[in-house]
Amino acid sequence: MPIASTLAQALPQPQFHHFSVMLQLPESVYRELRRHGEETYPHECCGVLVGTVSGSGKCVAQAVPVRNASPVNKRHHYLIDPVELIRVERQARASGWEILGFYHSHPDHPAEWSPTDLKEAHWMGCSYAITTVVNGLASETRSFHLAGSSEENKRFEAEEIQLLSNSLESEE
Ligand SMILES: [Zn+2]
Repeated sequence: MPIASTLAQALPQPQFHHFSVMLQLPESVYRELRRHGEETYPHECCGVLVGTVSGSGKCVAQAVPVRNASPVNKRHHYLIDPVELIRVERQARASGWEILGFYHSHPDHPAEWSPTDLKEAHWMGCSYAITTVVNGLASETRSFHLAGSSEENKRFEAEEIQLLSNSLESEE
């Protein structure tokens, strides 16, 4: 998909270069992104994680589901339509948020990044969360931080997922 890749690289890139490797997910968001993988099974789901960066890590406010636009094989590949990504980013900015990462599912495959996942990841500093879905049920979710400063030295590093309780927010 050279055209899509070129478009993705042309998108505005996040400018934060922090090294606190931690993804903070409200429990509700965690449940939603895992449920999304169950809904699209046996196809891969995909979406965008938006929120704010603080000293303690990337604090996700929302997981925005997007359609898997892969023209190849949705069971083993996902593609976020660049036009849709621009729309998500615009909406996030309107809420004071930025794109912190992306999520997708691996139907009947481990929650481990693939060479294709790395090749098609272009947002340095962002998180890439993967949920394995076995027989339609979400099991393990892991997250990887896209480290490095360029396409040549980029690499995935496992990062901790910290779940945040939603109990306070539900009082609003
Ligand atoms: Zn993958």
